[in-house]
Amino acid sequence: MVRLSGPASLVIAKTLCGDRELTPRMAHFARFRDGAGEVIDEGLAIYFPAPNSFTGEEVVELQGHGGPVILDLLVKACIDAGARQALAGEFSQRAFLNDKMDLTQAEAIADLIDAGTEASARAALHSLQGAFSSEVNQLVEELIGLRIYVEAAIDFPEEEIDFLSDGKVAGDLDAVYQQALRVLDEARQGRLVREGMTLVIAGKPNAGKSSLMNALAGFDAAIVTDIAGTTRDVLREAIQLDGMPLNLIDTAGLRESGDVVEQEGIRRAYAEMKKADRLLVMVDSREDAIDPQDIHSLLPQSQQQLENLDLPVTVILNKADLSGLPPGAADDGTYILSASTGEGLSDLRAHLKAVAGYQGEGQSRFSARRRHITALEQALEALDNGKAQLHGHAAGELLAEDLRAAQKALEEITGAFTADDLLGRIFSSFCIGK
Ligand code: GDP
Repeated sequence: MVRLSGPASLVIAKTLCGDRELTPRMAHFARFRDGAGEVIDEGLAIYFPAPNSFTGEEVVELQGHGGPVILDLLVKACIDAGARQALAGEFSQRAFLNDKMDLTQAEAIADLIDAGTEASARAALHSLQGAFSSEVNQLVEELIGLRIYVEAAIDFPEEEIDFLSDGKVAGDLDAVYQQALRVLDEARQGRLVREGMTLVIAGKPNAGKSSLMNALAGFDAAIVTDIAGTTRDVLREAIQLDGMPLNLIDTAGLRESGDVVEQEGIRRAYAEMKKADRLLVMVDSREDAIDPQDIHSLLPQSQQQLENLDLPVTVILNKADLSGLPPGAADDGTYILSASTGEGLSDLRAHLKAVAGYQGEGQSRFSARRRHITALEQALEALDNGKAQLHGHAAGELLAEDLRAAQKALEEITGAFTADDLLGRIFSSFCIGK
């Protein structure tokens, strides 16, 4: 499908479809012609007049037979007739700018398309339908109510609204704070459902790294996807843990090398691993004198650099079925399991969910991104400062300022307040045509 948006859409569509009337929202069978009048394809043309379209602008959709060559010809004919190729995310950006949706909803479109698990798709859909925005908007409403009260008291002291001592402000402020904390908690779950956690699995040859990856993957129906940005140097596997994406990075490619190209590959692999959330170090539990504190001794020579990545570490003692060690979480913080039999695996899974802070599928009502979490944290910090001003210094003006800052942070989430470069950054990560 080729989608046209903007004031000239109808004129351009008519150039292609032979100047026929297009009744709004009706599918019309049409022959699409190029500038020379030659038929490129035949299909359906549908016209959505402004403002009742996805972007809020004049929109025409031309549905052809598909196939890259025909679609290219169709796009070219549109461009010859005065259109231009859309930028990445431009349709969603226009929809946002025309108030068809707010920023979290626009982001949810990209998240829905990129969703790697059913849970993340569901969460993104909820965000698209406004579940996250309505939470944020409610917080903003409450803040505005509070600001009106506080600022009125500052502006009209003769009215003798003794707001600092009447308890209403303190009570309302605390209620907003608690509510914002709950939203932050949910947003964190929403982000985990979207992004999950990334693990690097390291250890000596034959410790059972591949077996563990398979065992973790086999637990759920594994979803193996290509992750954008994967270089050929880094092997990644994407699986899920109760609906949370788990990206596993394989260290098999790390080795000593004198080859320049290979060294570059290894350098990139380390750069990728540096961004991971945790390092899992696998050890064969039959090895004697294992010291789980001494990571150096648990890694092969070729992986020693992993120590410098400064990631939190979980040590796993594998092959419990052979060593006879009791499977499960051990007192020294290690996890004893058998990647072959699956014994002890559920304890490791519980541990991974716990360190991620993931509360399980069904706990995330909407998807969220890092920038949303940052904004919520900023709002909470401002509210916290406000509380201190109120209780510590009885400083009304400063409280009012903190409330304003909290509101601004929240409005950055929905896009009611935005910096231009933020919009550019968000929409450029969309795919073309969305
Ligand atoms: P990697 O080199 O660290 O990736 O190790 P692999 O996963 O390839 O495992 C090395 C060998 O150990 C294979 O023959 C596995 O079948 C075996 N293995 C891995 N985990 C276990 C385990 O928990 N119990 C037993 N008995 N064998 C295991």
